[in-house]
Amino acid sequence: MNNFIVDAHLDLSMNAMEWNRDLRKSIDEIRKREKGMTDKPDRGNSVVCFPELRKGNIGLVVATQIARYVAPGNPLPGWNSPQQAWAHTQAQRAWYKTMEEEGEIVQISNLTSLENHLSYWNASNAGNKKIGYILSLEGADSLVNLNNLEKAYEYGLRAVGPAHYGPGRYAQGTDATGGLGKSGRELLKEMERLNIILDATHLCDDSFREALDHFNGPVWASHHNCRALVNHNRQFNDDQLKELINRGAVIGGVLDAWMMVPGWVRGKSNPRDMNCSLEVVINHMDHICQLAGNALHIGLGSDLDGAFGKEQSPYDLETIADLQKFHTLLSNRGYSASDIENVLHGNWLRFLRSAWKK
Ligand SMILES: [Zn+2]
Repeated sequence: MNNFIVDAHLDLSMNAMEWNRDLRKSIDEIRKREKGMTDKPDRGNSVVCFPELRKGNIGLVVATQIARYVAPGNPLPGWNSPQQAWAHTQAQRAWYKTMEEEGEIVQISNLTSLENHLSYWNASNAGNKKIGYILSLEGADSLVNLNNLEKAYEYGLRAVGPAHYGPGRYAQGTDATGGLGKSGRELLKEMERLNIILDATHLCDDSFREALDHFNGPVWASHHNCRALVNHNRQFNDDQLKELINRGAVIGGVLDAWMMVPGWVRGKSNPRDMNCSLEVVINHMDHICQLAGNALHIGLGSDLDGAFGKEQSPYDLETIADLQKFHTLLSNRGYSASDIENVLHGNWLRFLRSAWKK
């Protein structure tokens, strides 16, 4: 059984342009090339590349641009001006374009390109199929002003998460507090006008509240687990999850070990000792299903290249191709065949078809 899979969160261009990974290569080649390097926590442990996405029948991904602005005194890594951050996202965009020219990937930005891609992917048995990608912006700091958002929409940007980690220029993110302010509310208004999806992931509680109150367009949470199971502000509590469900959101189960099992210590814990297997994320997804009363609001948003690799992923995952294991795991947990199809791709596709129908 090799089901079509949608992964709603990968940082492909960050891996290409900051981790210096040529994602056209095999996972062995990428890992070998990084032997002895220590500049990033996941060197030699990557699990995502184009061949592995194809092997896992992961034919559609939401892929990010990401660049943070840091004010003086902000200890997080980032750029010292929004203009530099914008330029960095443009380098990331240039990489996506280059990969399109190489025939590796194809951009999906509307209903027609989505339907065409699905027919193409499902009909073709070629070994080098073009992977569909929907462009998303993780953290909006790099939008110097709202003209940049319109420009980005024109080149295909279809989802924005206003915040990432820490304080942001438009919203407050993970580990930060506070609302959107005027700039954030204006951003949401412009997103609504352009029909850009709001990614609620990474919004702190205050900003989440304000964002949902002010935004009337489509909302998803591309990569998000449950606070009820792992208590951290990065995760959504049950009230937030219920609100997202009521708004028709789909919430992507994320495979970063620290968001899956309680008590994970970065750089110290290891997946096997912590009993962190793929099965664990189903506990999170199942929790959401219990709140919803159905399996229509969950999907996968693996984040498997989000500055971590094998050292911080479920122990029964060697590469992203192992997302295919969810078919059996969900079936063992009692999910019906149609539920499984919805979780692996149907829910994201339904969401996109509805968001893009006008
Ligand atoms: Zn990310």
